[in-house]
Amino acid sequence: MPDNPACEKEPLVLHICCAPDEAWVVHTLNEQFDLHCFFCNPNIAPETEYRLRCNEARNVAAHYSVPFYEDRYDPGSWEEAIAPAAGTPEGGERCRRCFDLRLERTARFCAEHNLPAFTTVMSISPHKRIGMLHTAGNAAAAANSVVYREFDFKKKDGFRNSIVLSRELGLYRQDYCGCRLSRAERNARIKQRSVLENQG
Ligand code: SF4
Repeated sequence: MPDNPACEKEPLVLHICCAPDEAWVVHTLNEQFDLHCFFCNPNIAPETEYRLRCNEARNVAAHYSVPFYEDRYDPGSWEEAIAPAAGTPEGGERCRRCFDLRLERTARFCAEHNLPAFTTVMSISPHKRIGMLHTAGNAAAAANSVVYREFDFKKKDGFRNSIVLSRELGLYRQDYCGCRLSRAERNARIKQRSVLENQG
């Protein structure tokens, strides 16, 4: 018997975008993998929202006794990455660039820390295009000589289960994806709904 059975498990870095998605994925994979959570989200705005999401994610990692790492918060890098696609809607080119940025940094983190593989908990969201995520993950992995694992965490009712678990754990659940543009889109939806309700 090894002294520490956890060392026998395959290492896997999880790119974390928020605590609710993180909680279900860690809950699901913790027995099988030697997990490392990596919070890498220069897209999130404003900074108060970034700090809130990061702290919640850190608490979830502590709850499951999984190591947690926070990347630097430099929203300027996100602005630069998505600038040519800033006018595109959620789900399109701007999100592809946003995935590329965050998963490239995650792959680089793996390479720098001698961790062989990563994935992202973002695949739990029905709002994220799975093909786009996998393409970004595989390209980032190839560029850094590590492996991207193609999970789809929304399978087997993953999204619904993540909502149930995050309620049980009392986690903050955001109502917009993360960037200032998705926040503006959320605000526009709320405004439109209120106009329609007032008309009714
Ligand atoms: S909507 Fe979400 S995935 Fe798309 S650019 Fe904004 S933060 Fe990134």
